[in-house]
Amino acid sequence: MNPDMQLYNTASRRKDKFTPLTPGIVRMYCCGPTVYHFAHIGNLRTYVFEDMLRRVLEYAGYTVQHVVNITDVGHLTSDADTGEDKMEKGARREGKSVWDIADFYTRAFQKDWDRLGLLQPSQWTKATDNIAEQIDLIRALEDKGFAYVIAGDGVYFDTARFPGYGEFAGLDIEGMQAGARIGVVAGKRNITDFALWKFSPGDVQRAMEWESPWGKGFPGWHVECSAMALKYLGETLDIHCGGVDHIRVHHTNEIAQSQCATGKIFSRFWLHGGWLLQKSDEENGGGKMSKSSGEFITLESTLDRGFSPLDFRYLCLTAHYRNYLNFSWEGLTTARDSLRNLRKKTAPLSGLAGTPASETAHAWEERFQEAVYDDLNLSQALAVVNLMLKDADLPESEKAALTSRFDKVLGLDLLAPSQASDGAALPADLQSLFDERLQARRDKNYKRSDEIRDLLRAHGIILKDSPEGGTWEKATG
Ligand code: AMP
Ligand code: ZN
Repeated sequence: MNPDMQLYNTASRRKDKFTPLTPGIVRMYCCGPTVYHFAHIGNLRTYVFEDMLRRVLEYAGYTVQHVVNITDVGHLTSDADTGEDKMEKGARREGKSVWDIADFYTRAFQKDWDRLGLLQPSQWTKATDNIAEQIDLIRALEDKGFAYVIAGDGVYFDTARFPGYGEFAGLDIEGMQAGARIGVVAGKRNITDFALWKFSPGDVQRAMEWESPWGKGFPGWHVECSAMALKYLGETLDIHCGGVDHIRVHHTNEIAQSQCATGKIFSRFWLHGGWLLQKSDEENGGGKMSKSSGEFITLESTLDRGFSPLDFRYLCLTAHYRNYLNFSWEGLTTARDSLRNLRKKTAPLSGLAGTPASETAHAWEERFQEAVYDDLNLSQALAVVNLMLKDADLPESEKAALTSRFDKVLGLDLLAPSQASDGAALPADLQSLFDERLQARRDKNYKRSDEIRDLLRAHGIILKDSPEGGTWEKATG
């Protein structure tokens, strides 16, 4: 197994042939969510891309060690090491403890994860469960002379001591140094230096703080990811992923501190997912979807409008992962229609057994591979699937077998039995649940109302709420 897989590597700025360091095993670290709010569909787009990457690697025969972290402390509202911890901001917004906030939004995130059919990582890991490892990493950096203390503020990484700092992101360090200094932490040796450890404010007791050799406080966001990646995957990863917004600061800093601590290349490949943008229309202000703006679309809100999670997954597949994707409800509707059309063709194949043994089948598999091994060209892969299904020379049993293999990559549940959206009556037991939910909504018992919605969804019934009550339709996902 050594497919000619080309992946665009942010570090080299070109497509490189991918092979892992250890034959057959891929070590992959993906930056996870900061759990101070619901994930929006922009965040989820990045995790769908990472899931596709993992599925393509597994399709190619690799075993993927896939680590995803949960950032539950230390991600400040400003990348300049000033501002508030986002977790504290979430706790204040909701009048809850930071721990409750972290717990609630981690569960919500993992629920979205499952709904989208994302494969479970080999390891979920929380920043707050790995404080000792982070302290060890900072100590190692200090021992090697890369760290310094700013009294009353924190422990900082001296970026001038890492030759080539910023090359990864093509930063113009001199220009940055000469630029405005407003908002820069006093005492930083270089404008790009970043906090490894922040001291708790003397007068305020933080809900999340730990003792350290330098004083009570909490870790910086970047050191969390380095420490967890090194702990679970070793000194050199094969692939590190995240959204494109992480290149300039977060990943640049992860590279600096990891490589200075270990003396090894931190990750051989860096893959970044493009932004999901909000379309500039009256409904949503336009620009990059972000949690901090407070205005964002969640997966849940797409379900409330009658979409299924796999409609969103399909939408993600239609754009190359490195390109921007402009989100609009019309776009999601088109994705839903396309997925339904595809399912109309594939559902009748469910239950047919076969092996894709003929030369024609091999040719289709090659075309599929050409697409997915070319830096995950999934829209091309979808086109191949559609063409394959039309091939009159290919026996139905082989179409079924190929669809099953391809769907391991696409994750669209293509062989689920079809369920037409025909507005038929609900079975009596589901109808009574439906009625009970309407009553629960009238009573503002949203907990019960959500429970019933999930129950109905598990039976393939998607609810569409309206001020007057609501309707339902059968899910396609
Ligand atoms: P966060 O929870 O803010 O740390 O972000 C989680 C992941 O979502 C990171 O990999 C981000 O790079 C990514 N991300 C944030 N906003 C967007 C967006 N609008 N489109 C795509 N990915 C995003
Ligand atoms: Zn990270």
